[in-house]
Amino acid sequence: MKGIMLLSLQGKKGGWVMHEEAMCNCIVCGELKPHDQGLRIVTEFICGSCEREMVQTDVLDEKYPFYVHQMRQIWIHKNA
Ligand SMILES: [Zn+2]
Repeated sequence: MKGIMLLSLQGKKGGWVMHEEAMCNCIVCGELKPHDQGLRIVTEFICGSCEREMVQTDVLDEKYPFYVHQMRQIWIHKNA
């Protein structure tokens, strides 16, 4: 399971501070989210809000093909 060790800029002077917080790139919305606020599938990550949206999306919804497309990346990565 890979996480990204994020260098996050603090609001104070002093610049970059290393955080030991694992951040994951959500494959659906592309945002970095804390790894514990989402769902891991194989090596990929879906954040909590996207997960909820996907669960609520009907197969007939126009957004559904988008989610399927994003999810397919997981299997492509897995088989690469
Ligand atoms: Zn997301």
